[in-house]
Amino acid sequence: MKQTKLFTKTIKELPKDETSYNAQALLRAGFIDKLAAGVYSFLPLGWRVINKIQGIIREEMMAIDGQEINMPSLAPKENWQATGRWETLDVLFKLAGSDDKEYVLNPTHEEVVTPLAKKFIYSYRELPMAVFQIQNKFRNEKRAKAGLLRGREFLMKDLYSFHANQEDLDAYYDKAIIAYNNIFKRLGLGEKTYLTFASGGSFSKYSHEFQTVTEAGEDIIYICETCKMAVNQEIINEQSSCPKCGNQDLKETKAVESGNIFKLGTKYSQPFDLKYQDNNGDKKDVIMGCYGLGISRVLGAIVEACHDEKGIIWPDNIAPYRLHLLSLNVNQEADKIYDTLIKSGLEVLYDDRDLSAGEKFADADLIGCPYRLVVSKKSLEKGGLELKQRSSQVEEIISTTDLLSRFS
Ligand SMILES: [Zn+2]
Repeated sequence: MKQTKLFTKTIKELPKDETSYNAQALLRAGFIDKLAAGVYSFLPLGWRVINKIQGIIREEMMAIDGQEINMPSLAPKENWQATGRWETLDVLFKLAGSDDKEYVLNPTHEEVVTPLAKKFIYSYRELPMAVFQIQNKFRNEKRAKAGLLRGREFLMKDLYSFHANQEDLDAYYDKAIIAYNNIFKRLGLGEKTYLTFASGGSFSKYSHEFQTVTEAGEDIIYICETCKMAVNQEIINEQSSCPKCGNQDLKETKAVESGNIFKLGTKYSQPFDLKYQDNNGDKKDVIMGCYGLGISRVLGAIVEACHDEKGIIWPDNIAPYRLHLLSLNVNQEADKIYDTLIKSGLEVLYDDRDLSAGEKFADADLIGCPYRLVVSKKSLEKGGLELKQRSSQVEEIISTTDLLSRFS
């Protein structure tokens, strides 16, 4: 992608009310645009990152037999009345239709997926079953000031699983934990994300959150270094030790909830009368689980976790482009190199703009592609391009041929 053709530019003036680092950096680098508090557009660079995050999540959800669907953002009031959450969920976005009916902009989809499953699940033969979607969700937040960490509209993956009995749910739930660990590892957040005990509700003692440690987080968690797990604030109020090993020496830290998984049991299958017939012909309640992961929130968490004073440092797997090629007044030569790299299938952002070296270096650091390639008279005299990792200060001269063999 040539930067002279890129839809966005880096910007210097930030919206005055934007106080969170993640949104400031992404706005300045041209990854997102702010429409209103907690409401953002994803621009070409930002959407490329989102697509890569989605790709990783999709693969891991399909690996645990999740089938992708897409449910509506809009749901009738009656579905939310059926579970009582029309009255009890204070962040529900309610709206009036011109047909005199009321609607909800869904913050989660139990009220949609459960009656949907009722149309297809009759017998034990159809179980277990799991469906997921990646979709925009809505929360009517009073305050939305943490950038992408707490949006009014946000992108989420939610998976719902349906089971004949508790044992089957328990086994699937453990598989989901492994899938989530894989996701965070692949997103470059493995070291910083902790499986965290949270309160469970009536069907299990605990639910689990995946908390990513960052100073920008609004949650407080208590880490057990022995188990590499954590407990959230609700749990620490009930007991002051690690539920797994009993360790009392827990480390308090700020974190953001990147994901959560929950054994729902029959909480939603009962109000919607979702039953199946077992092999004796008896009708039984379907047992459910739900598994959420905030995609735009994870993007914000990655920016909070992976940056320095100059800008973002993208993990390799999800960078908008792996290579950032900068031409310092040698566009004719750089154009040829760019064409060669593109033809070899490499992902390259190419700064072919008529700007000073200083401005190009500053923008490259701000945008944060993992590898910077500089083509200049000096580098060409030395036999190629100057290669530097965004996270390092070491520079080396590399020929186009060696570059292709290293990055292809
Ligand atoms: Zn422990």
